[in-house]
Amino acid sequence: MLRLVSGYLFAILVTITMGSLTVQAQDSPAQPREVQIVTRVLPPMVVERDKSLTGFSIELMDTIANRMRFVPAYTVAPDVRSLLEEVRSGRVQLGISAVSITAVREAEFDFSQPILNSGLQIMTLGQASAGNNNPLWDMLRLLVSWTSLAWLGIGALLIMIPAHIVWFLERRHPEGIVPTRKYFPGIFFALYWAAGTLATQAESAPKHALARLVAVLWMFTGVVFVALYTAQLTATLTVQQIAGGINSPEDLAGKRVAVTAGSTAALAVRELQAFAVEVRQISDAYDALQDRTVDAIVFDAPVLMYYAANEGKGRVQLAGSPFRKEDYGIVFPRGSALRSEVNITLLKMREDGSYQRIYDRWFASR
Ligand code: GLU
Repeated sequence: MLRLVSGYLFAILVTITMGSLTVQAQDSPAQPREVQIVTRVLPPMVVERDKSLTGFSIELMDTIANRMRFVPAYTVAPDVRSLLEEVRSGRVQLGISAVSITAVREAEFDFSQPILNSGLQIMTLGQASAGNNNPLWDMLRLLVSWTSLAWLGIGALLIMIPAHIVWFLERRHPEGIVPTRKYFPGIFFALYWAAGTLATQAESAPKHALARLVAVLWMFTGVVFVALYTAQLTATLTVQQIAGGINSPEDLAGKRVAVTAGSTAALAVRELQAFAVEVRQISDAYDALQDRTVDAIVFDAPVLMYYAANEGKGRVQLAGSPFRKEDYGIVFPRGSALRSEVNITLLKMREDGSYQRIYDRWFASR
């Protein structure tokens, strides 16, 4: 009997020990599993510093990985199109950076819960650097403008009237402004006088009494003429300056706009009838704007705002608020086994404040 009991006890002991060994083996594997992740440099979502990656998305992913006990192995894609291609091909288990959740992408991939609210926004050169502050250029543009040409035409026609009256009255006057009785070249003297007076630059005055009366009336006409002309030129200049500015998405039509390749911004810009200049790195878009090879950049608000508040401070400006709302998500291949746990971890991070801490580190205004 005693032997039987001790036999049972031994068996139970062995079972428990074996069981706990198995559990231990499952709990702490010698090599934690590695998860392949594709990302893309896009400050402040993903920032490359001294050859290592950081940024909002990376800190978020590192925390998720830590909690889910896997080691993230990042590879960097040159643009969002290649990032999605990596996920599609199954070479990586997930992608994270600033990937917008769209209907087309949702049909092909699985997305996590949104990781950040975003939207498309317009960025242009700052007021100081944007204006064509070259007065010589402004003057040339006005001189050869349609407004100037039209007023020149009107002036040329108008001077015919006083020129003929004055020619007729002055031609016989010995000290008059028309030194000859003949129509040619007499009329040219009269025309020169009429043109000069119109531009309020009269050199001489007619001598004939009636001609003097005409001259006075003509001088007044000249003042009104110049005043109207000046007013219209000012208006033209102002309209040109306002029209040249980009203040809303509608203003982008016909403009050269930098966007990143394969992005939601590239699609939006084409819908707005603008000419999309595709670049791979967002830094190339910033350079193109500074060089004035493009008129504006359309891109994700969080990214543009970060640039405008840091590196681009004082040099760029954001036009209006984001005009198309989007959310960023972590992208998985269809049917990914990881997604559900990533979502749970992400939601727990929102609830315990760790999401907020990461958010504040990258987005709180300094
Ligand atoms: N939110 C943009 C998109 O998903 C980012 C594009 C990019 O990474 O350049 O289309």
